[in-house]
Amino acid sequence: MITISGNYQLAGRSEMHPASAILYDTGQVIIQHNNGEQITDCWPDDYQFSDVIPGLPVDLQLADGALFIPSDSGFRWPQLTSQNLLAEWLESHWLVVFSSVLIVPLFMWAMINHVLPGAAHGAVAFLPDSIAESMGEQTLYLLDKTQLDPTELSADQQQQVTQLWQQVNTRLELPKDKYQLHFRKFDLGANAMALPNGSIIVTDDIVTLMEDDPNALIAVLLHEVGHVEHKHSLKMVAQTTATTMLFAMMFGDIEGAGELILGAGTGLLQSAFSRDMEREADEFSHQNLPKFDISPAAFADAMALLLNSHSSNNESSEGSDTDSEFQNTLSHWLQYLSSHPETKERIESAQQAGKTE
Ligand SMILES: [Zn+2]
Repeated sequence: MITISGNYQLAGRSEMHPASAILYDTGQVIIQHNNGEQITDCWPDDYQFSDVIPGLPVDLQLADGALFIPSDSGFRWPQLTSQNLLAEWLESHWLVVFSSVLIVPLFMWAMINHVLPGAAHGAVAFLPDSIAESMGEQTLYLLDKTQLDPTELSADQQQQVTQLWQQVNTRLELPKDKYQLHFRKFDLGANAMALPNGSIIVTDDIVTLMEDDPNALIAVLLHEVGHVEHKHSLKMVAQTTATTMLFAMMFGDIEGAGELILGAGTGLLQSAFSRDMEREADEFSHQNLPKFDISPAAFADAMALLLNSHSSNNESSEGSDTDSEFQNTLSHWLQYLSSHPETKERIESAQQAGKTE
């Protein structure tokens, strides 16, 4: 039993009467004048409390609208739930609240942009080859179903490129059973792409585009091998998966995350390599071209050829929709060609690499 001194206020009246409230363990409250004369007797069902606001007393509100207001503004009724009190604590510790509003997004940002990519990229080194293998097969299967058609190149044309490809394999001493070249027809024009298992796809248009400039095609093939050697696709998938897991853990949807991991191969179709990855693949090409007695400037020639072929293709179909089309694996060359400063930078750094040779 505790006795709380305060004031009693009748419903709808402004005057206050000094009074005290006696609170029993059962929750019963007796409010009486200071001379001991009882005003009212009530049970938990008959009263509630006002909101808990830091620095203000918490009123006992009776069913008929009368109030008992404790004199001690810091007094908190024992029946108040921890929820009421937490809200008050948060309000009086606004700095904590404010900082967590800042810290949580900062933490998420750091996790997604630094911690997870680092961990994911590191983990990729320990992935068994069979994962890259099935991911590559799955992606090629999906590409063939959706966006690629069988090649229409002549046997001679294919033979020419296959010879270049064999040169790449021998000079770079690539593992024989890992890398495979695939010819495909692709409606969006000249393009080349690499899958995690070492499958390199060249489109009919890029083969005809570079028919008279085999050095340029070698530069492109080396760029693609660079993506595979640096395990870019695997890093991308691992990173997406880790981010998904983070969100799943935060929101408690682990099953959903499992499904996403199983569908990681499909994810490859929807995402494009980062700029850093493209730069790394470019560098791989620049560094290895001299092994063929080709200047890294050949890479610049390849970019220029691709740029020309795509800008003439796109003149008729310039529109806002084209950008979203570029946001997938197939975008690869197209996406960077579509942003001119990026292309210019890539051409310049290839020319630079050519000079310092
Ligand atoms: Zn690339």
